[in-house]
Amino acid sequence: MITQDAPGWELPDWRRQQADLITDPAELLSMLGLAADALPEQLAAARDFPLRVPRAYAALMTPGDPDDPLLRQVMSVPEELLEQPGYTADPLDESDHTPVPGLLHKYHGRALLVVTGACAVHCRYCFRRHFPYQTHLSGKRWEQALAWLSERPDINEVILSGGDPLTLNNRRLGQLLEGLAALPHLVRLRVHSRTPVVIPERLDDGLLALMADPRWRSVLVLHANHPRELSPSLLERTRQWQRAGITLLNQSVLLAGVNDDLETLVRLSERLHEGGIMPYYLHLLDKVQGAAHFAVSDDQARGLHHQLRGRLPGFLVPRLSREEPGEAAKTVLAG
Ligand code: SF4
Repeated sequence: MITQDAPGWELPDWRRQQADLITDPAELLSMLGLAADALPEQLAAARDFPLRVPRAYAALMTPGDPDDPLLRQVMSVPEELLEQPGYTADPLDESDHTPVPGLLHKYHGRALLVVTGACAVHCRYCFRRHFPYQTHLSGKRWEQALAWLSERPDINEVILSGGDPLTLNNRRLGQLLEGLAALPHLVRLRVHSRTPVVIPERLDDGLLALMADPRWRSVLVLHANHPRELSPSLLERTRQWQRAGITLLNQSVLLAGVNDDLETLVRLSERLHEGGIMPYYLHLLDKVQGAAHFAVSDDQARGLHHQLRGRLPGFLVPRLSREEPGEAAKTVLAG
C-alpha cells in the first residue's frame, strides 16, 4: 500500500518518471541485451553530458538492435570525443543575443526564455549540450526577464525553452505565466518541448489548463524525430490538446542513422498528422562539438526533401531549414 509518507507520494506520474531515469550506459545496454564492448569510451563521452533516458522511452527501443534509431539519439558513443573542424561549443553564437540572463532576443517580435537547464532526456545531438546554463539561471532571472519584456512593446510572442520548460511543474510554470500574462503586448505563448515525446504523461490536465488560458494564443512545439517516438499514449493526449484549441507543431532534426531516409520521414509526417500535430521544421544539424556523427550533407537533405514532396501533400512536408548565427530568421533551404 502506498502511504502518504512513501517517497513519491502526491507526485504526478510524469514527475516520478522524471526522477527515475536511466543514467548509466551499462544499464541501458543490459536492458536491451546489447554488448558493452565500448563501455569505457561511452562512459567517458557521458562525463560532461550525462546519459538521461526515461524508462518509457527506452521501452520504445528494439531489444538486440545496436542501431536502433531511438537508442542512437540518447546513447553516448566514442565518436563524441573526437574533435571535428567546424564544430564548436556554441554553434549559434547565442551568447551574443542575451540582453539579460536567461533571455535570448534574436528574431523580430519574439523573445525566448531559458526557463530551466534541465531536460527529461539528453539528446546527444543537442546544440545546447555545452550551454552555460549556470550563467543564465540566477535566482532573479524571471524578474529581470519580465522587467526587460515590460519595456519592449514590440515583442508580442514569448517562447519558453531551456533545457526543457516542461520539466518544471505546473505551479512554477503557472507563476511564470501569470507574470507574462500581465504584459498586454504579449499575445502568443509558444512552448518548445521534447518531454511529452519521452514522457507522454507530461501533457496533463493542469498543463492543458495553463496553456488553454484565453489570455494566450498558445502553441506547443514538440520535438520528435522518428515515427516510433509517437506512441499511442502520446497521440491520444495530443488529440485532446488539439480539441482544446492548442496549436500543435513538430520540429525534427535530420540525423544520420535516425531519420535520414525517405520512408522514415514519410511515416513521421503521417504519424504526426494522426495526432493532430503539423510537421513544421526539419532542421539540419547545428554543428555542436560532439555531434558530427549525426551530420547529413546539404545535398542529401535537399534530395530527401524533394522526394518527400513527391510522396506527401504539401501541408505534411516540413520546411527544411537551418539556423545561421547572425541571421534575422531561419534559413529555409526548401519549403
Ligand atoms: S530535450 Fe531539447 S534541449 Fe534537452 S537535450 Fe534534448 S534537444 Fe537538447
